[in-house]
Amino acid sequence: MNAEVARWIDRARHAVALTGAGVSTESGIPDFRSDAGLWRDVDPMDVASTAGFEEDPARFYRFWLPKLETIRNAQPSAAHRFLARLESRGRMQAVITQNIDGLHQRAGSRRVLEMHGSFRTLRCQACGAKMPIERALDSGKPVPQCAECGAERMRPEVVLFGDMLGPVLRDAEQEIREADLLLCLGSSLAVHPVAGLVPLARRTGAKVVILNREGTSMDDEADLVLRGELEDLVREVAAPLGL
Ligand code: NAD
Repeated sequence: MNAEVARWIDRARHAVALTGAGVSTESGIPDFRSDAGLWRDVDPMDVASTAGFEEDPARFYRFWLPKLETIRNAQPSAAHRFLARLESRGRMQAVITQNIDGLHQRAGSRRVLEMHGSFRTLRCQACGAKMPIERALDSGKPVPQCAECGAERMRPEVVLFGDMLGPVLRDAEQEIREADLLLCLGSSLAVHPVAGLVPLARRTGAKVVILNREGTSMDDEADLVLRGELEDLVREVAAPLGL
């Protein structure tokens, strides 16, 4: 089966990947819904919604700042590296990711559509000034403040529950319409509207392959489902491609 996927990659005219938190667990960043996931001990609405942020920014940052420190020190996983190598050989046209950790770019992927934004920059809601996350981490402040206008809190440029996705959703749908192969890696494919890209790919004629440790909400939409650890799965798919 893994050799079959390698053959499909080899023959694809426009291959696209859709990734989720599972590509980064090997990098030491927990996913959301696994047993050891981020939502085990907290209510996502407190720490990952716009209402939760507005209500208590200190609680929001107490949860996120240590995780951002982990992300800063994380190294790309086998899956990140595999996708970057495919792109550099002209075999992968885009990575659509739900992740906010920036690890695809650090692995060398260049066309990355970040559906949920990223934690790279914070924005002042009062004056619009931006600040790199490193500066906020190094400031040691429990809630990052605006260096320009002195506002007491800045918001990360991530999509939180309750936010709309911006133009990036249209860009992703366009990639999917052009695709003849969609590889989904490390996502439960349970969060919409991103999960809806999978049936869209089917409708517009792409083959769909899902690589994940456990079942996903979209397994029925897939031409092929590979179950296992991504580290092993990508090694087995990469070998016949000489990557
Ligand atoms: P999810 O937690 O719902 O699903 C992750 C999936 O990956 C699970 O089905 C799990 O079985 C699988 N998985 C985990 N490690 C794996 C491994 N080593 N090999 C194979 N499979 C593995 O995550 P999702 O689908 O991305 O959920 C969407 C939300 O998660 C997004 O909103 C995203 O912003 C957010 N998120 C991102 C990060 C990050 O940036 N790294 C981390 C946590 C959550």
